[in-house]
Amino acid sequence: MDIKKLMVSNPVVADMSAYKEVFWLNPGAGEPASLPFGMDDINDAEARLARFAPYIAKAFPETARSAGIIESPLKEIPKMKSDLCRMTGNFDGRLFLKCDSHLPISGSIKARGGIYEVLKLAEKIAIDHGMLTADDDYSKLDSNEFHRLFSQYSVAVGSTGNLGLSIGIISAKLGFKVTVHMSADARQWKKDLLRSKGAVVVEYPDDYQKAVAEGRREAASDPMCHFVDDEGSQDLFLGYSVAAKRLLPQLADADVTVDSRHPLFVYLPCGVGGAPGGVAFGLKQLLGENVHIFFAEPTHAPCMTLGLATGLHDAIAVRDIGLDGITDADGLAVGRPSKLVGTIMETLLDGCYTIDDSKLYPFLAALADREKIYIEPSACASFTGPALVTSASQYLESKGLADKMAAATHILWATGGSMVPDNEMKLYYERGK
Ligand SMILES: *Cc1c(COP(=O)(O)O)cnc(C)c1O
Repeated sequence: MDIKKLMVSNPVVADMSAYKEVFWLNPGAGEPASLPFGMDDINDAEARLARFAPYIAKAFPETARSAGIIESPLKEIPKMKSDLCRMTGNFDGRLFLKCDSHLPISGSIKARGGIYEVLKLAEKIAIDHGMLTADDDYSKLDSNEFHRLFSQYSVAVGSTGNLGLSIGIISAKLGFKVTVHMSADARQWKKDLLRSKGAVVVEYPDDYQKAVAEGRREAASDPMCHFVDDEGSQDLFLGYSVAAKRLLPQLADADVTVDSRHPLFVYLPCGVGGAPGGVAFGLKQLLGENVHIFFAEPTHAPCMTLGLATGLHDAIAVRDIGLDGITDADGLAVGRPSKLVGTIMETLLDGCYTIDDSKLYPFLAALADREKIYIEPSACASFTGPALVTSASQYLESKGLADKMAAATHILWATGGSMVPDNEMKLYYERGK
């Protein structure tokens, strides 16, 4: 790979290699594409989650109020909007926060895809053993009989933290043996919490990719072990995509119209790409050209932006352009994008941008002060999006959006935070002040 040449032909790569913030607009956005999944796949995942709802409600009583459906609120944040306009530049339209930071069970967006993948595995094992049919009341899985069945199997995953939490909690609850391979970025409290739930936590001094590779290697030697592959799992991706179907009625409840005169902009923090990619895919299936999606990454680990801007996807890593991959946004500390997601995003994303770590904490503190909502640093990575998009006049002209921004809706997707211990959150907040 000739990195020098890449930088000359692609100024955004040169800027990224200097840790500069970039705003990359995707020239392939809206082009025709043949995608590996469709609406049927999203509906199938949604139906599976509905089958499991009685189990989830029983095994996790905190979800009883939503009858076992793991979902988060969509909240309008007008006070934060005025702060954000002051901090990042003015923008028109209504501003919402999608509070996946407060999803039940594991407090991050990983409670969508991660839990979905393990449920699908459990369903298959139970059906294969003749102990379950799709018409049964799945609450029966919360029993010694099923725990004994699942205890013969194991689940393994490599993670920077939040995926490990999701997989560890749901796997242990079902009765699986579960091993979480954690990278150096993972916070201590996440390791402690997982161990308290009965998961085995293996720690690595290296980055996320090493943790994933070790997990994959160990799982490969054990036919009874299912490896959750964050770098290419279809199940994770489709589990995340269900969020889009759930968002539409929430938008309607908030009197938000999305059509050719009322564009919707969605800003998602991106690590390996699975979570934001799945949500983006679902939203594009449902809302087509009326939704515009952007991914946000830290300047030290902009793996998806790099993969898309060069067209190299998982064949290039942030280390290849001299970046260290070290960021306070631990959920986004990923050096190489998912091979599955990058290619799907080639036509679905409007663009990507990067943010310096130092900006995350002031956003975190402002959201806490103005809206009383506490989220983790990673989840603040998207907050510069509305101002960036609004100031991109050429982009707005080319999409026919320039005269529609007053009627626009912006959603910042808050991807994690409610499980952060109070004392840690206090430190984040104080740093932001
Ligand atoms: C995992 C995570 C993301 C990004 O998800 P990917 O699938 O890695 O792209 C964003 N924010 C938080 C808090 C996360 O834990």
